[in-house]
Amino acid sequence: MVNNIIVAVDGYSSCGKSTIAKALAKYAGYIYVDTGAMYRATALYAQRAGLANHLEQVVDLLSDIHISFIQTPDGQHVTLNGEDVESQIRTLEIGNLASQISTIKEVRAFLVAQQQAMGDHKGIVMDGRDIGTVVFPNAELKLFLTASPEVRAERRFKELQAKGENPVFEEVLRDTNDRDYRDTHRAESPLRQAEDALVVDNSLMTREEQMEHIIEIFQRAL
Ligand code: C5P
Repeated sequence: MVNNIIVAVDGYSSCGKSTIAKALAKYAGYIYVDTGAMYRATALYAQRAGLANHLEQVVDLLSDIHISFIQTPDGQHVTLNGEDVESQIRTLEIGNLASQISTIKEVRAFLVAQQQAMGDHKGIVMDGRDIGTVVFPNAELKLFLTASPEVRAERRFKELQAKGENPVFEEVLRDTNDRDYRDTHRAESPLRQAEDALVVDNSLMTREEQMEHIIEIFQRAL
């Protein structure tokens, strides 16, 4: 009989966490949860409420924010109060607001509690920054993905172009570095590698090579 385990996938922004986590969840028949999408949806809510320059005020509105995930023919999408906001949250602007809003303790507590509830029955792959350290410190398998900032900025640049945006590479690289700095230096749950996490540097791996490697690790963990 196959065990159901919790797989925590952490790492820097744009290092392919969600692609890998999604593919692993599909392979294992597990639930996939993109926690970054939850911070992004919260940021979108704050922006729409006119709080982009006063993000801390979102703390008083948390009970009005309902985030969930739906399956669409296009894959998993995040919803905010029932509205599919998948495309609205994938912009550079919302990414930056999400990175700022994620430094607020109350916002993290609000989302972490929901993330922990999603893991009640195990059989879940969750990606983010604090999954192996805070959300599921007892996860059976913890992966820490990394790639060089230049490689990650290049990927993000191409993603934005594919979406019809008109990014400037230097800006995307600066943004990547800024986000890394904020993610690793914030007081609340900074991004760090859990002691028992397995590090996968995918700077020089193809997606297929990486997937093969990760499935092997997963099989061993079962
Ligand atoms: O992963 P993604 O880039 O979509 O995440 C958006 C922002 O949300 C990140 O820059 C990060 O600061 C924050 N985040 C977080 N904790 C998580 C997931 C995302 O702080 N578990």
